[in-house]
Amino acid sequence: MLEIVQIPVLNDNYLYLLHDAGTGDTVIVDPAVDEPVIEELEKRGWKLTHIINTHHHWDHTGANMALKEKYGLQIIGPKAEAERIPGIDQSVGDGDTIKIGNSIATVFDTPGHTSGHIVYYFNEAHALFAGDTIFAMGCGRLFEGTPADMWTSLQKIMALPDTTKIYCAHEYTMANAKFALSVEPENRELIKRVHEVEHKRAANLPTIPTSIGIEKETNPFLRPMSAHLQDTIGMTGRDIVDIFAETRRLKDNF
Ligand code: ZN
Ligand code: FE
Repeated sequence: MLEIVQIPVLNDNYLYLLHDAGTGDTVIVDPAVDEPVIEELEKRGWKLTHIINTHHHWDHTGANMALKEKYGLQIIGPKAEAERIPGIDQSVGDGDTIKIGNSIATVFDTPGHTSGHIVYYFNEAHALFAGDTIFAMGCGRLFEGTPADMWTSLQKIMALPDTTKIYCAHEYTMANAKFALSVEPENRELIKRVHEVEHKRAANLPTIPTSIGIEKETNPFLRPMSAHLQDTIGMTGRDIVDIFAETRRLKDNF
């Protein structure tokens, strides 16, 4: 089984170290910066063997080259934006699998935030490394994709088991919670969750990982079919993609 270590960096990014004690394989997901990663590795006596990237943005790939030079590791990243991933060795896309130690991860294309964004689902651990596709009560901004692209991507994520843990790349939870309440003010699960999140953030604790089950109940971007949400934003009975698009537009201007 993989050990997962969460490393908070910059203002609100999370990096994840994955380690297989049996084989020694050690992965960093989306390294924005190198120093906190090296520190954590040295503390634990681990040697980095792979980088896996979800998309090309600098806050996910910024330390690719520095870590590759230091450890001589393999970089795995999205096929559809391979030319924008520094130092990439292996490009992967929808349905491909990668092997880290004794664990297999399936890759899903999740365009929307960027055109070639991918996520990695570790089948046995039920752990999803989601980059900037889905956040706690939020989703990524649509920089390079359409609302229809992103909605299709989010539906792929929703099809995974509810118990799946979501390891996303940012702690955007409080801001997302405020927006979520504005579009579903009477969602009881959401109200309860926002209280929990407030306590965690007040104690400076991470609100990530989240799970697919919790997101289905509280994340407005997974809930365009909610009558309550439709009513609040004045889109009752409209096309699901249009409701999703309007929700995203409202969040952009929130
Ligand atoms: Zn990004
Ligand atoms: Fe990011």
